[in-house]
Amino acid sequence: MKTYYLQFRVIPTASNEHHNLVEGALASCWVLEHDAQAAYAQADFFIRKSDWRIEKIAEYPVEVTRELFLERDIGLEQFDKAQKEGFAFVYVGWSRDGKTTAGPFIQNPSFRFEISRFLAKQKELSQSGRCLHFDGSHRCNNIINAHSIQKNQSLASIAQDGHVYKPSTKFSTTKANKGRLIYEKCGINRVSTFLGFCKRHDNELFETIDNYPLLPTDQQVFLYAYRSLCRELFVKENALKLFEDQLSNVPDENSIKDLLHGTKEGTSFGLVNLKQHKSIYDESLREKSYFKIRYVLFISKQKPFMAFSGLLYPEFDFMGRNLQNLGDHQQKLDLITFCSAPLDSGWGVLFAWHESSSKSCVDFMRSLATMMHEGKQLGDLLFRMVISSCENLAIAPEWWDDLPQEQKEKIESKASLMANIFSETKQSYLIEGLEGIAAWDFESIIDNMK
Ligand SMILES: [Zn+2]
Repeated sequence: MKTYYLQFRVIPTASNEHHNLVEGALASCWVLEHDAQAAYAQADFFIRKSDWRIEKIAEYPVEVTRELFLERDIGLEQFDKAQKEGFAFVYVGWSRDGKTTAGPFIQNPSFRFEISRFLAKQKELSQSGRCLHFDGSHRCNNIINAHSIQKNQSLASIAQDGHVYKPSTKFSTTKANKGRLIYEKCGINRVSTFLGFCKRHDNELFETIDNYPLLPTDQQVFLYAYRSLCRELFVKENALKLFEDQLSNVPDENSIKDLLHGTKEGTSFGLVNLKQHKSIYDESLREKSYFKIRYVLFISKQKPFMAFSGLLYPEFDFMGRNLQNLGDHQQKLDLITFCSAPLDSGWGVLFAWHESSSKSCVDFMRSLATMMHEGKQLGDLLFRMVISSCENLAIAPEWWDDLPQEQKEKIESKASLMANIFSETKQSYLIEGLEGIAAWDFESIIDNMK
């Protein structure tokens, strides 16, 4: 992380404790971030959260070092504070009568986000089960904690004493890696599970992938894709309810409201699309007609050290080209699912999509082929994609514990970019990074792209 310094001219809002005395102020900010744009977004957010309205930017973000502040007491203090806490802000205000200046002072926001309320609501939602089976109804009463990653052959085979590593919902708070996503060890029954199916439907529907290795048949591929889709739908429905609940609790004019509102809009759009895709899948399942599924399966004879299941609306391909515009809420989005799967001998990485999503998905897969043709390692390309696009994954302790610290940090940093609300997805996020870490070796490919 780099340290950025920037300044804004600000005006107190009505909730600001200095509102009666201060007409305006200069806000100086020190922010730890990956790039200038994310530093700007973060500073903007925290200033508005502290009851200020931004009038204009006074100094654009510049990367700074500690040496620059050695002669300046307050600057040095704030620089050091930012290293510990991720950011620091100081305000110098001028009075309404124009005669005096106030500060430098530090601002206490009038509203504090109640993290405990947030977590309690999140837990309540994740525990409200419902059956997402295409034939699900009020009769589905025995909702189970279904695994979205194949359990018996996949998760169990990489576990050590029933445990694996997974991305933590808690962020690192230690000084050196503040804000970075970390991986934590937990029991496999807490990995990838969601209350999205009743026992009968889960057993019936997924029998051919839970009890047999992937061959692959169209039906098996279809079911892997369907399970990724249902899990995402469950998570996103909960997220939307969570944002709605939180929004009702935040005062107007507070930047948390804008942030929640923006995130809610994005989630809502993603969810509308997920529901459309699910109804296409439901239809095929009802008719037991699987021939519209398209897939590419990369086959490895190695012993797997990771298991995962996820999906994405492909925005940028492996060469950094734009495939579809996720910001255009009028259009229907193409969707691709991906997961690891046990094979008769070895394991595979399976990409799948319904033929109605072929436009973006075929280009996505072709860009992967082009990068391989240009000499890039397939294993690196796939590992990078999984780490940066999927939070529903498990890592073998045997592999993770032996990894050099520097490589663990590279993986955590790449995964954090996805989780950072102040960073937009970089067009180049699949082009480079994490080379030579996974050493995944694939010896053959099966596909039915037409
Ligand atoms: Zn059911």
